[in-house]
Amino acid sequence: MPKRPRRPLRCRHCDQKAVINMRQHKLALCGPHFVEWVHKQTERSIKKWRMFTRDERVLVAVSGGKDSLALWDILLELGYQADGLYIGLGIDGGVHYSDQSHEYIRQFIAQRGGDLTLHVVDVAEVYGASIPQAAQLSRRGRAKPCSLCGLTKRHIMNRIAREHGYHVLATGHNLDDEVAVLFGNTLQWAVGYLTRQGPLLPPSHPGLARKVKPLFRFYEREMAAYAIVRGIEYVYDECPFAEGATSIRHKELLNQLEAQSPGAKLHFYLNFLRAREEHGLFQTVQEQIELHTCPTCGQPTTNEGQCAFCRTWERVQERVGALPHTPQGANAP
Ligand code: SF4
Ligand SMILES: [Zn+2]
Ligand SMILES: [Zn+2]
Repeated sequence: MPKRPRRPLRCRHCDQKAVINMRQHKLALCGPHFVEWVHKQTERSIKKWRMFTRDERVLVAVSGGKDSLALWDILLELGYQADGLYIGLGIDGGVHYSDQSHEYIRQFIAQRGGDLTLHVVDVAEVYGASIPQAAQLSRRGRAKPCSLCGLTKRHIMNRIAREHGYHVLATGHNLDDEVAVLFGNTLQWAVGYLTRQGPLLPPSHPGLARKVKPLFRFYEREMAAYAIVRGIEYVYDECPFAEGATSIRHKELLNQLEAQSPGAKLHFYLNFLRAREEHGLFQTVQEQIELHTCPTCGQPTTNEGQCAFCRTWERVQERVGALPHTPQGANAP
């Protein structure tokens, strides 16, 4: 018997054609109802985790990717005081990665009438070398600049938040990002990291902003769908240095698991949070971490004396004169 053509999926609320089917929630929604759902879920996460209130100023780290731009859009739509921070890493990789990223952010702002605040920190301009150059000059990042890049981004985010009096620093990490990190840390039993991972990280030091991840419950495909429905253009290319990263391999494995058991990623992450919050998992470790203040920049450090950021960048600046001229595209991995 010939198969009857499948009826397109319909929105649960209005019977219009659905733009997304979220199997883990058994929920299909049309564009407007999906946007409404994303806004409600984000608001719920912000309230449940006491991330911030409408009286507080939020600094959103925007990279030009779908998640961070979606986050900025959602917070603005929900009426929060959200400004952006873009860090120009100077990564070219043959695709003008950093330039492209900045351009999408400018476009996002222009689409909203241009009346948004964006702080821009160009690493090469401020510190004397781009991330790929600095990785070459320092001992960090012989293979890849990622550890130096992460260290630098964290430092700059803390610095800008402090200098401009932001209460909160928000990043666009989605559930797939969070679960991949959790999976990696669990495979290693990296207890120190497992202690700190979560949607809300209280300030570890006086004067620092608390760190929040309001999109932690959304799957990556949900954020991609949100960006499309909202007409947000974003940089599709991954950073060229991300290729071959362990977290990407972990994401692939977790996607296979999710395909067989919808909701597996969400439950893995939420049950981890529950085990920690309700059953005190890793609590003793939390109490043992002692932080010091870096005498140069005033940010926290686990060792006494200068922090890793100041040590590394001092070394880079000492050697920066020896840097050969780097033509466009030469920092491809
Ligand atoms: S993948 Fe790119 S942006 Fe991410 S940490 Fe590595 S160098 Fe930085
Ligand atoms: Zn609908
Ligand atoms: Zn320092």
